[in-house]
Amino acid sequence: MAQEMAYFQGKIVPVSEAKISIKTHAFLYGTACFEGIRGNWSEDQNVAYLFRLREHYERLRQSCKILKIKLALSDDELCDLTTELVEQSGYTEDVYIRPIAYKSQEEIGPRLHDIEDDFLIFVMPFGNYLDPDAGIRCMTSTWRRVDDLAIPARAKVNGLYINSALARTEAHENGFDEAIMLDDRGHVSEGSGENIFLVRHGKLITPPPSDNVLEGISASTVITLAKDELGIETVERSIDRSELYVADECFMTGTAAHVTAVTEVDRRPVGEGGTGPITKQLQQLYFDAIRGKSEKYAGWLTAARPKTAQPRSQEVNA
Ligand code: PMP
Repeated sequence: MAQEMAYFQGKIVPVSEAKISIKTHAFLYGTACFEGIRGNWSEDQNVAYLFRLREHYERLRQSCKILKIKLALSDDELCDLTTELVEQSGYTEDVYIRPIAYKSQEEIGPRLHDIEDDFLIFVMPFGNYLDPDAGIRCMTSTWRRVDDLAIPARAKVNGLYINSALARTEAHENGFDEAIMLDDRGHVSEGSGENIFLVRHGKLITPPPSDNVLEGISASTVITLAKDELGIETVERSIDRSELYVADECFMTGTAAHVTAVTEVDRRPVGEGGTGPITKQLQQLYFDAIRGKSEKYAGWLTAARPKTAQPRSQEVNA
């Protein structure tokens, strides 16, 4: 039987057995950093392809450095352990993998120094997060993206996601699918869990990391695919709010979100209001790459073969 498994306190156990104390520092203050990794199930090849696993752990290491968390395991060990965990979980559908490096001591007082760290991973089944076929309707949030001098957005810090949660819930309560956050200077930064791209005059435009964005792995994948497969350049520069309204196309990228068209911003259709032609091509190239249908990009994939192959327990999307 497939089941949610975790690497917790040095052992692989069912998720139901992985428990932390209510006094854990990371729970009290959000002092943790994480990654979100997808295992994309290939029906033809009977394998889950973990997408750009090593790059995710490289980014986790950067987040850890900012939070002064020591990661005892090497990148090779982390990759092997993750693959083993997915294989032991036994799912034959898309999965989501959540590694977390956290301040594990039971300790009062917000700080980063002189506190013990620990590291865990869990695996769970995971279908679509947004709707990549229909696209999404967005609003610019009244919440500002956290500034680098408040909580660095380039670190995937657990506590930072309050900023995303405020923006996403505001968007949801106003009838939109997702928020677009502006930074302190009013520049377009990113979605609550996605990077953002515009298409204008045949080029891609995306905000630079200095506009308080997470340096996205899906974004860098799309930049490569656009350049190498379509000959389209990406310009990294600041974007004004009003530029969202005049873009030919707009889309978001993310591990959870894949490549998803933004069809409307602040009740103005983007372009024709559907998935634009360049977005459509990038979406196809991206899906082919993540599901092992593109030999050229096989280097981005780590194969995990479930140890107990079971029939699918829920609809696999995309
Ligand atoms: N921005 C934020 C705030 C995110 O949480 C994510 C998801 N990790 C992204 C962008 C996209 O990053 P990636 O493509 O590496 O998943």
